[in-house]
Amino acid sequence: MNVKEIAQIKALLANPKKIVIVSHRNPDGDAYGSSLALYYYLLKLKHDVVIVSPNDCPDFLKWLPGEAEIITFENNQKISTKLLQEAELVFTLDFNALHRVGKQMQEVLENINPTYIMIDHHQQPDDYAKFMYSDPSVCSTSQMIYHFFEKLDVLNTIDKTIATCLYTGIVTDTGSFKYQSTTSETHRITASLLDLGVDHTKIHNELYDTNSYNRLQLLGKALRNLKTLPEYNTAYISLSQGEMNAYNFKKGDTEGFVNYALSLKGIELAVIFIEDQKQGIIKMSLRSKGDFSVNTFARKHFNGGGHENAAGGRSEETLQKTIATFLEIIPTYKKEITV
Ligand code: 5GP
Ligand code: MN
Repeated sequence: MNVKEIAQIKALLANPKKIVIVSHRNPDGDAYGSSLALYYYLLKLKHDVVIVSPNDCPDFLKWLPGEAEIITFENNQKISTKLLQEAELVFTLDFNALHRVGKQMQEVLENINPTYIMIDHHQQPDDYAKFMYSDPSVCSTSQMIYHFFEKLDVLNTIDKTIATCLYTGIVTDTGSFKYQSTTSETHRITASLLDLGVDHTKIHNELYDTNSYNRLQLLGKALRNLKTLPEYNTAYISLSQGEMNAYNFKKGDTEGFVNYALSLKGIELAVIFIEDQKQGIIKMSLRSKGDFSVNTFARKHFNGGGHENAAGGRSEETLQKTIATFLEIIPTYKKEITV
């Protein structure tokens, strides 16, 4: 995003507009953190702004300031469609391809004609936005919102509420500051957010210390299902719909499970396969250490993508068939995974 584009966006934001902020399906801490931070900033400028999310977030994000104001497309199709049709500006945050919002909402986004502004940190962005701020080197979209404020020269409008949203996005997308994408800049920005009064201990508790008994039991099941392929430095976990039902699965319950597979000594590639009968798919989460790109792998074989070391994918085959396909593919990557 160059100086000219920033000036154009400044001009667009100079007087009140109808604005919709859109996040991706199955929103995570970064999707909602970045959306809410931008939302509160645009409210200060007296814009008519709403956030439309394709579907609901997990319980561990419900405490976020403004979360209750977010409209979910899944439960409010008519209102969401109208808001999108009337919007002059649509920000799409934390995703870079319109299919990431799900089929029905994608159709709406493809048939409206607002000025699209994309702010995102995933690889290989699609070309749908007039203004595109895409930077896969940044740890989170929330950090990019901070940089966006910097570019607009409005860092002084970040208050404790906005800082709380940005901190949440940064902490969740960096795995609490441990992923490679975490830089000294990330820490400097985070420090400035703490200076604004962010209560990091409370945020950590809300995000990570609100397990249900059932979730821990489901984790136990997932760990018993963990399999390793030592020859390929690979580990994987599967969870069938029946297993999920047995522990009264709730959205977000499997978040982070794949990291247990990656935490095994010597494992460079970890995958979790989760059956979702409602959507008729197997949802995959892929994680890697080092140079093996799960973005490329998921894009090529499992209709997905994401980042070098964290990506998602899906399959429309059965759980068994999906795992069988995966097991067939893995040997062809032996060199890349075991360097
Ligand atoms: P997760 O495994 O936590 O669902 O996703 C890991 C990362 O990959 C996140 O940054 C997420 O946005 C991205 N991601 C997940 N699923 C997909 C997908 O189907 N397509 C693409 N392009 N990215 C995905
Ligand atoms: Mn993100």
